[in-house]
Amino acid sequence: MDTFHQSVWSFLTRPREPSAALAADMDADVLVCGGGFMGLSTALHLARSGVRVVLVEAEQIGFGASGRNTGFVVPSLKTMIGPDDVSSRLGETYAKRLVSLVGDSGNILFDLVRELSFDCSAEQTGWLQPAHSKAMLAVLERRASEWHRLGKNVEMLDRGKTAAQVGTDVYHGAFLVPSGGQINPLAYARALADACVAAGVKIYEKTRVLGFERTSQWLARTPAGTVRAERVVLATNGLVGKLVPEVNAGIIPARVFQIATQRYDAEAQRRILPSRSPVADTRRHTFAVRWSPDGRLLTGGIVVLGPRALERAKRKFSSRLQSFFPDIEKPEAEFSWTGTIAVTMDSYPRYFDVAPNMDAVIGCNGRGVALTTALGRELARHYTGESKDGFILPREKPKAIPMRRFAELGPSFWLPLSEFRDAQEGRAPV
Ligand SMILES: Cc1cc2nc3c(=O)[nH]c(=O)nc-3n(C[C@H](O)[C@H](O)[C@H](O)COP(=O)(O)OP(=O)(O)OC[C@H]3O[C@@H](n4cnc5c(N)ncnc54)[C@H](O)[C@@H]3O)c2cc1C
Repeated sequence: MDTFHQSVWSFLTRPREPSAALAADMDADVLVCGGGFMGLSTALHLARSGVRVVLVEAEQIGFGASGRNTGFVVPSLKTMIGPDDVSSRLGETYAKRLVSLVGDSGNILFDLVRELSFDCSAEQTGWLQPAHSKAMLAVLERRASEWHRLGKNVEMLDRGKTAAQVGTDVYHGAFLVPSGGQINPLAYARALADACVAAGVKIYEKTRVLGFERTSQWLARTPAGTVRAERVVLATNGLVGKLVPEVNAGIIPARVFQIATQRYDAEAQRRILPSRSPVADTRRHTFAVRWSPDGRLLTGGIVVLGPRALERAKRKFSSRLQSFFPDIEKPEAEFSWTGTIAVTMDSYPRYFDVAPNMDAVIGCNGRGVALTTALGRELARHYTGESKDGFILPREKPKAIPMRRFAELGPSFWLPLSEFRDAQEGRAPV
């Protein structure tokens, strides 16, 4: 059974008046397929420039990763990719663009939230990445100086300040990006959808695209109508499935588990993460934690897949929380749910050239809250010609990941070893 309705975000977020399902044939300049942050941000920015956009969502707005994530606004790429590393993968030109956009992505998101007065519990309290080992502290220090050279505002916290900010003394120091923070992701997705409608986007929920035909334009088939459009943006992320098999073959969909505990009192909220910066440490199996708007601790990660995985996740992540914060009332998982992220082998997002006038932006590797918002804006600028330099990422044909079936099981295989190595290097149990 799908767990969308079991998340703390479904519990906390005001429902949105559902958009109707498509029941006729439509025309648009651009068809956006997928109602997560990527699709919504692209649609919003296109519509604001006068483009006629239809957005279709198979289930409901925010049904994918966007409505289920932890809501960390992270203006940074994956832990092992620093600004200086990007040019060896993308070349100088694209590296400059991507690094600059990633660095600005927190402000891009929070500025949009402020400009449109989104009610999504947005807190620009900074994003904190503590080092679980001396070696990782050195990596973070290098990273901080790379960002400084690019003129970005980041800080390193010493051991004492890190302990005060996190509420445990297990860390060697931390990297802080003040432009990061946290949101209620489902409320943000719904607010983006309302802003899209206000800007003229036609949204259809419960409308799954079943296939595409190419004549002089694209024709998308849905169960009860078609959409004819000049251009198609596939914003289906890890849920692309069989719709476009070559895109699916170019990513690995990975399941991530989340829990939210019981509510804690003000005293606990003063002791743990008192400045309310969300925390994601440098472990291979990252320990990530934040406060929800109503005083619950949220955490999660991956578990070995198989029977009763969600039950095992509840136990595992509750006891992991307790091991980091032994002095608080025993954490109980009152909410538990899962979502799918799109992983790429090198942890870089992709701009796939699926076919003429059909693109997919995909694969933010669990770091997509701020980045998809920013990439959506940039994709719209690229299409309208507002940005003269082309897009942020190079357009490339999807390449099938070798032995992908095996790669899908990868996390389950490497998890025990990674956790063992994390525990050896760090002071806290996993
Ligand atoms: C549990 C979890 C925790 C995470 N935590 C964080 C975090 O704290 N910070 C962070 O930066 N990132 C995080 N991420 C990653 C982040 O959520 C994603 O990168 C981001 O939401 C991706 O947005 P998207 O719009 O590309 O995809 P999605 O939100 O997955 O949207 C894709 C949409 O396409 C729709 N769709 C699929 N097929 C069709 C079709 N045929 N027709 C119509 N619609 C279709 C789906 O229903 C879905 O709504 C997390 C992800 C998960 C799963």
